[in-house]
Amino acid sequence: MKIFISADMEGASGITSTKQCSPKETTEYERGRKFLTGDVNAAVRGAIAAGADEVLVNDSHGPMTNILIEDLAEGARLISGSNKPLLQMQGLEPGFDAVFFVAYHAREGTGEGLLNHTIMGSVVQELRCNGESVGETAINAGIAGAMGVPVVLLTGDREVAREAQCRLPGIETVTVKDSFDRHASNCIPPSRTRGMIEDGARRALAHLGEVKPLEVELPVVFEIAFRSTASAAMACLFPSVKPVDARTVEIVDGDYLAAFKKLWGALILGRSAMGGVLES
Ligand SMILES: [Zn+2]
Repeated sequence: MKIFISADMEGASGITSTKQCSPKETTEYERGRKFLTGDVNAAVRGAIAAGADEVLVNDSHGPMTNILIEDLAEGARLISGSNKPLLQMQGLEPGFDAVFFVAYHAREGTGEGLLNHTIMGSVVQELRCNGESVGETAINAGIAGAMGVPVVLLTGDREVAREAQCRLPGIETVTVKDSFDRHASNCIPPSRTRGMIEDGARRALAHLGEVKPLEVELPVVFEIAFRSTASAAMACLFPSVKPVDARTVEIVDGDYLAAFKKLWGALILGRSAMGGVLES
């Protein structure tokens, strides 16, 4: 059995602050990396206990060099570093049996979601897929679905767990903290959540056949509402990106993976335009 783990960071046990997720910080970031690696290891242990013989972990936050490979649980491999065409799903391919989302966070605009944002918090005001506001959970589940792979486990705060249950019927969720503000949560200590995550992974794989891969209706329509009109204008340099209004662009494609890559390209371009593309 082959398991793919996409590991973000904001939803890790104990994390409540951007300082714990940013390499620009020192002491708090190092604590955050340990919290994240501990949660990932719990998911790896659960997968192996349930019969996985291959576990591939993709470091999926910021510069994507957060997970401490020297502490990674035996039996797993790690994709580390950025510039990935499939971003948080890089490394997944048809033939994997299931996907876990570990340390995920709620989509931008979820009032009580800890550190809620969608892909690039400083760039994206809202992301819509076929008319519905979506976060990383739904977008990445669509990538897995396009490859015929179900997402069977998500760990994170209460709000992202709700988001996952709403979008992905049958998914197993492990809530490691009750978030009540963008910057505050009531946290269960890692000493306890690790057992919860390990058990959750085992349970998820025990009823593997019951969760279906997410099928997104095609052609898929992605809309990006940028925070800045400058981002929208520059993203439209790509012929496949069409303007909707001053801050919103649209991407339509009959292939979900192709659409996602266009979306990701538009976000990169939009981000580079925020301060003037040639100014930095
Ligand atoms: Zn993140």
